[in-house]
Amino acid sequence: MKVLLVEDEPKIAAAIARGLKQEKYVVEICHSGADGLGAALGGEYDVMILDRMLPGVEGVEICRQARAAGVKTPILILTAKSQIRDRVAGLNAGADDYLIKPFSFEELLARIRALLRRPDDLSSDKLQIADLTLDTVKHEARRGRQRLDLTATEFRLLEYMLRHAGQALTKDKIINHVWDFDADVLPNTVEAYIGSLRRKVDKPFAGRNLIKTLRGFGYSLDAGN
Ligand code: CA
Repeated sequence: MKVLLVEDEPKIAAAIARGLKQEKYVVEICHSGADGLGAALGGEYDVMILDRMLPGVEGVEICRQARAAGVKTPILILTAKSQIRDRVAGLNAGADDYLIKPFSFEELLARIRALLRRPDDLSSDKLQIADLTLDTVKHEARRGRQRLDLTATEFRLLEYMLRHAGQALTKDKIINHVWDFDADVLPNTVEAYIGSLRRKVDKPFAGRNLIKTLRGFGYSLDAGN
C-alpha cells in the first residue's frame, strides 16, 4: 500500500516514514505544501497523510483541491491545534480523519488501517479470497491453514492484489502501488514477482489457481475461473 506523507518537519517525516516502512507500506514524502499538492493531484496513493501547517499550501487546502479534482483517496490530516474549529475545517474540506499532534505511532497506524479497510469491511484486518487469507497486522499469509513464506515485496504485492481482488491490474498500476517511486522497476520485475507468488500461493495447493494472467493487460487475483 502506498502512502503519501506531506510533512515539513524532516524529523517527524522521517520517523513516520521509517515506522510505516517497517509495516510494509511504501512511503513517498513531500516536505512542502506545493510539492504535496502536486503529488496529491497527480499520484496514485492508497492513503494520504497531510500535515495541517505547511509552508505555502496548507494541508486543508491540499485536501480541498484534491477533492475538488475528484481524488477519492482516504485523507488523514495531522494537526497541532486541538480546537474543534480546526477539526471541522479539515473534515469539511473532505478529510476522512484527523489526528492531533503529538500522537503515538500505534495510533497513526490504527487510523491508517481503519481508512484502508473502508468502506466495505469495517471489522477486520484480515483480507480473504477463497481459502487465501492475509493478516495485515501480523503480516501473515495463509492458504487454508498452511502459512506462506513470503518476502516483504511478495507480501506487499499480494496485499495490493487482495485489496483489489477481481479487478484487472496493469503492470504499471502494480509498480506504482507496490514499489517506491525511486525504485528502478521494470515490467519484467513484476512478471518475476508474480511468478514467485504463483509458486508459493497457487502451485503447492490443490485448489483453484487464484492468480490470473490477463494476456496483454496484466493480472488479477480472482477466485473464479
Ligand atoms: Ca508543519
